[in-house]
Amino acid sequence: PGVVEGQQEQRRMRVAGKVPLGLRRKGQRVVVTGGAGFVGSHLVDRLMARGDSVIVVDNFFTGRKENVMHHFGNPNFELIRHDVVEPLLLEVDQIYHLACPASPVHYKFNPVKTIKTNVVGTLNMLGLAKRVGARFLLTSTSEVYGDPLQHPQVETYWGNVNPIGVRSCYDEGKRTAETLTMDYHRGAQVEVRIARIFNTYGPRMCIDDGRVVSNFVAQALRKEPMTVYGDGKQTRSFQYVSDLVEGLMRLMEGEHVGPFNLGNPGEFTMLELAKVVQDTIDPNARIEFRENTADDPHKRKPDISKAKELLGWEPKIPLRQGLPLMVSDFRKRIFGDRSSTDT
Ligand code: NAD
Ligand code: UDP
Ligand code: UDP
Repeated sequence: PGVVEGQQEQRRMRVAGKVPLGLRRKGQRVVVTGGAGFVGSHLVDRLMARGDSVIVVDNFFTGRKENVMHHFGNPNFELIRHDVVEPLLLEVDQIYHLACPASPVHYKFNPVKTIKTNVVGTLNMLGLAKRVGARFLLTSTSEVYGDPLQHPQVETYWGNVNPIGVRSCYDEGKRTAETLTMDYHRGAQVEVRIARIFNTYGPRMCIDDGRVVSNFVAQALRKEPMTVYGDGKQTRSFQYVSDLVEGLMRLMEGEHVGPFNLGNPGEFTMLELAKVVQDTIDPNARIEFRENTADDPHKRKPDISKAKELLGWEPKIPLRQGLPLMVSDFRKRIFGDRSSTDT
């Protein structure tokens, strides 16, 4: 009983935010949902390097064992095949909730499943956080701003989202996930953090996931034309994955709920991105125009003043520096190890 009371007291203190950061960090038990995916696996690497006990929860919809295989056999690492739409009992200190397909091609594949993952999955992980007094971080998205009428986007902007469109399963799903997160915070005193992530790229992205950076890089490497949707004048701002992981960890460890935009303000049209890929991989890579998809946001660029001020965070790796790191990973995975040296 003494041990249980001690644990309960610890939980109460944690809920009240009274345990100093230094103490929290020691031997922390951290769950990463979606930890076998692109962003999740890079986050897991950082947490493992810091000495945390990490539990990855993933249903392998878009994630792969290969992304975390290098931790197999490490007693601090556990991998659970589990769908977050189903309840889950664990004892942990922190929950990084990433489980959700992120590429439009993947999240449109089964839209009902996507919105269930965002709503029921997030509800379950918040229920878990409430039960054990864990701190919960939601990876929301710049898509909550929809096709934005304000540029760049500030966290106080409420967005311009189509509630009945083909992207709604994802962007309305994430908006509801944010709502649930704030309601558990206000109503059940769960410690929460919200990140709004802007387009992120890097090694371990699915090669054929349909996102623009992975498409252009894979196409240029395979000597296929790069498919530019629409007139190619729409913009995105591309962040290298290590910058994002640093931002997520600072947010989790810091004292601010958010939401915080985490993205690189460097803005590119899709035609400009194609040019960077040509310069990096093959100056002769061709471009082919394709019809654009419905409800494609015309522009997107984060205002990161809030993260700079309150988290002391800003991205360090510009596109022209980050892209080659991704290209060498894609080269290895597409052609095998032999060609990896001629990057
Ligand atoms: P990803 O598809 O590589 O990773 C998602 C992971 O979640 C995969 O491992 C997948 O198998 C798992 N997953 C999906 N549904 C699940 C379910 N129901 N139960 C358990 N696991 C499930 O995508 P990513 O780029 O690594 O994105 C991670 C998170 O970051 C997502 O929540 C995404 O919405 C958010 N995000 C990413 C970006 C980006 O540009 N990469 C931008 C904005 C937001
Ligand atoms: N839940 C979970 N793991 C836990 C605690 C709760 O998966 O450790 C789920 C639970 O099954 C429920 C959801 O989280 O569907 C919300 O839980 P909460 O306790 O907030 O609500 P209630 O169960 O009272 O509806
Ligand atoms: N896009 C493109 N060619 C592709 C894939 C995407 O021109 O092969 C465009 C797409 O129309 C959008 C932008 O690139 O304007 C970013 O798309 P992505 O799917 O990467 O992410 P989004 O920001 O739309 O979620």
